[in-house]
Amino acid sequence: MTRDQYTFDDPRTLYPVIRPEVQQQPEPGLQSRMTPVPDLGEDTYRGTGRLTGRRALITGADSGIGAAVAIAFAREGADVTLSYLPEEEEDARHVVSLIEAAGQKAVAVPGDLTSASFCRELVQRAVDGMGGLDAIVNVAGVQVWQESIDQITDEQFDRTFKTNVYAPFWIIKAALPHLQPGSTIVNTASLEAYTPAPDRLDYATTKGAINNFSKGLAQQLVGKGIRVNVVAPGPTWSVLQVTQGVDPETLPEFGSSESPMGRAAQPAEQAPAYVFLTSAESSFVAGETLNVNGGMVTP
Ligand code: NAD
Ligand code: MG
Repeated sequence: MTRDQYTFDDPRTLYPVIRPEVQQQPEPGLQSRMTPVPDLGEDTYRGTGRLTGRRALITGADSGIGAAVAIAFAREGADVTLSYLPEEEEDARHVVSLIEAAGQKAVAVPGDLTSASFCRELVQRAVDGMGGLDAIVNVAGVQVWQESIDQITDEQFDRTFKTNVYAPFWIIKAALPHLQPGSTIVNTASLEAYTPAPDRLDYATTKGAINNFSKGLAQQLVGKGIRVNVVAPGPTWSVLQVTQGVDPETLPEFGSSESPMGRAAQPAEQAPAYVFLTSAESSFVAGETLNVNGGMVTP
């Protein structure tokens, strides 16, 4: 029998405990050059029509969690507009080919989300390319570790906020006039929103902001029939970690010491949470944060 995301199994051993070698790439990095390459669910995600006919804009869709979400969405019957940085074209092509293999439309829009005008252009290109828009999934984010606050430059602080907080704000604002009742928005927080690592001060702060922003916005938009929710991943093997995301010396232990599950997640394990929150099956869920972190207790 081929395994898929519905296969009954022990979650602790479903994916191997990885002991990644110390490796570094310049930001934003290419996932295809990682050892091991993260699992996006290419061989395991099986769609059952849960997003049939939907039109989704997904940021950070070239690699990691966003890429796993893009593949899952396409296999569930959605067309996908992918946002990523121009340097990530190679990773993006892999995802585009899988979306097309699923029989869905892929609209690739490379560009820099720290620009408000690009965020507005991205929304317009999604609407034009897919003939409308009814799902926004903000996954793009930056994380650069620094031992102490004096090492966080003003430029880093600004860029982390522009990417992680401002871009979703700009995108959602531009998308709203296009969203009909039934449409959904899913943002991406982190375990860091509740238990900030001292060496990820700026990043953790943005993740707290995303949670709070989403809960406030959810109350506003429920009056328009639009649901806003959040996924808060725990340690997940992705290229973010090897592009200054964490202290490189800690890579061999990545995820295994923190998580009660004894291992890091693979991006493939994050995707079903986004599918659930976008699908109409979560019709009565709004303003919620779904923690996908291997059992770490959150407030
Ligand atoms: P990733 O590096 O594969 O994905 C991040 C993506 O963000 C990149 O692929 C890139 O396309 C995009 N991005 C960054 N800066 C951008 C910019 N200026 N313009 C356009 N796109 C830009 O890593 P990932 O781990 O899959 O991260 C996805 C999300 O998950 C992030 O928001 C991250 O904070 C969150 N998250 C990850 C973990 C983890 O352990 N990996 C844990 C909690 C939360
Ligand atoms: Mg990438």
